[in-house]
Amino acid sequence: MSAFRALRIDKTDDGQTISTVDFPESDLMEGDVVVRVSHSTVNYKDGLAVTGKSPVVRRFPMIPGIDFAGKVTASENPEFKVGDEVVLNGWGLGETHLGGYAEVARVKADWLVPLPQGLSAADAMAVGTAGYTAMLCIMALERHGVTPARGPVLVTGAAGGVGSIAVALLGKLGYEVVASTGRPEEGGWLKELGASEIMNREELASPGKPLQKERFGGVVDSVGSVPLANAIAQTKSGGAVAACGLAAGMDLPTSVAPFILRGVSLLGINSVTVPKPIRVEAWSRIARDLDREKLAAITRTIGFDEIVPTAKAILEGKIRGRVVVEI
Ligand code: NDP
Repeated sequence: MSAFRALRIDKTDDGQTISTVDFPESDLMEGDVVVRVSHSTVNYKDGLAVTGKSPVVRRFPMIPGIDFAGKVTASENPEFKVGDEVVLNGWGLGETHLGGYAEVARVKADWLVPLPQGLSAADAMAVGTAGYTAMLCIMALERHGVTPARGPVLVTGAAGGVGSIAVALLGKLGYEVVASTGRPEEGGWLKELGASEIMNREELASPGKPLQKERFGGVVDSVGSVPLANAIAQTKSGGAVAACGLAAGMDLPTSVAPFILRGVSLLGINSVTVPKPIRVEAWSRIARDLDREKLAAITRTIGFDEIVPTAKAILEGKIRGRVVVEI
């Protein structure tokens, strides 16, 4: 393939433009492995990149798409050979390095994870960065000693990508899951995924005291801001909160009280630069702990031409669960 189909973002005086192009293979960036991308996905960050709402893209022209799955077609690295199935998320893909909304990607072998057994390329992208981040949150809580015996776990933004996969994983792992959502009409769906209780997002939306009634042994938070502050305030002594997102805002209006008076821990999660052994562990835990029927219930599949409208919709909170893109 001397050229391949790709979505390309260009910088203009007025902001950015996005178009489908034939992208020359010779313009790919440095890397020792070439992959025929079969699937990608639309994460919240892709929404920010494609719309230009936040400065996610830091190199132009850029092929957006912060993750992909596919097959190796050429490799200069002994770790990978032609035909190997791989998944990649993070490491600046779609931000500083040409990304996943393209038929071909050239990347560093160090960034690639072999597709774990039992997970197809489509499954891997149904999980995507969002689901992988949910797993990182759960692994962080586990490392902190959170177990089902320590009490219910709160998941915020539960009907979103990170949230819905967190609900499914925690439910399978035996936790009592309280799912906070602004879409109470999705309550039945969230209960089928693994939630024991649905909490209306409004309950966490108003600024509250930094110490409230202790309820949760752990929290997976994908929204930040006031809801995160309230979640921290409702975490039991010695419990932990894994914070990975900002769908409600970047701020965190709390005080040190929960940390110094209850020993609550705030665990920051950045999925982009996680060392390879933890990446491999997270993907293999996903393959083991995520119920495939539940994954299918979370997922919708779209074609290449639907990426841009879907990216807009995710920022408006209109996407339920996860979206796979067939490339
Ligand atoms: P989604 O849009 O799929 O999910 C976000 C969910 O947050 C929405 O579905 C909604 O859930 C809830 N939400 C949206 N707006 C608000 C609001 N104003 N107040 C309260 N809740 C709100 O996005 P993703 O799951 O892909 O990503 C979630 C967050 O995690 C994003 O901020 C993303 O940037 C971040 N993220 C961070 C990563 C990292 O490495 N740290 C990696 C991956 C994601 P509901 O309808 O149930 O209320």
